[in-house]
Amino acid sequence: MQNILFADANSDYKTARYVICGVPFDGTSSFRTGSRLAPQEMRAASYNFETYNSFFDIDLADVQIHDAGDLEVASTIDETLEMISVTAEKYIGDGKIPIMLGGEHSLTFPFVNACKSKYPDLGFVVLDAHMDFRQEYRGEKNSHACISRHIIENVTQKYASVGIRSGNREEYDYVNENNIKVFSAEDVFSNGIESVIDDIRNEIKGPIYLSVDMDAIDPAYAPALGTPEPYGLTPRDVREVISSLAPKIVGFDLVEIAPEYDSGGTAVMGAKLVRDFIAASARAL
Ligand code: MN
Ligand code: MN
Repeated sequence: MQNILFADANSDYKTARYVICGVPFDGTSSFRTGSRLAPQEMRAASYNFETYNSFFDIDLADVQIHDAGDLEVASTIDETLEMISVTAEKYIGDGKIPIMLGGEHSLTFPFVNACKSKYPDLGFVVLDAHMDFRQEYRGEKNSHACISRHIIENVTQKYASVGIRSGNREEYDYVNENNIKVFSAEDVFSNGIESVIDDIRNEIKGPIYLSVDMDAIDPAYAPALGTPEPYGLTPRDVREVISSLAPKIVGFDLVEIAPEYDSGGTAVMGAKLVRDFIAASARAL
């Protein structure tokens, strides 16, 4: 595929408020690989939409968006994380709101870490089907299955996850023993997403990094995933979280789409959520 840029990313780096970058890496993916292809698939899908976002009443053509293309990656996760942390720190240091298109979930770490150095009271909200609270997975500390554990232990304890419905017994014990804010997909189904968002707002008052692991959404809506898990959130639930938290979001990513496993619908959904985040954030200015 050609090296195309995200639709309406018409600004240069200097003037941009939002900087999109792709990270085409899926080296620790445990079930289906392919998320390295997702940044370009989402860029291609982004041309499906009108520049005007009627839901948020924002025209993305009027928003300062830059697409920096795909970042360089290495063959190992450790090297890749090191390389992209330099870029993440640059974006944050330059006052940008980074929008990282994964790639796998482990890539979230350097972006959250960079945000934390600028915003000491940073909170982390993640939408995910999976706990990701393992200490290591298949001998790999920086596996995508460990990202939440890494962030809560090394970056911030202001943490909440939404959409959870999978983890091993140790992960559930860890969450219960440490009183970690985990909202299951069943919580959302029973209480409504608004009530979950209210709880998050009471818990996390300051700036927020929002990470969207695409498998938070039910695979009926988003089947092309690294690790699909039934009984998930609806796209509207996810849009509601993005919309409600947008005014406080200082960094955003969308990860874990494996585009080869459908006919393009999941990349369309991912591109839409990225566009909704930008619109919601720009509206809040
Ligand atoms: Mn995840
Ligand atoms: Mn997941």
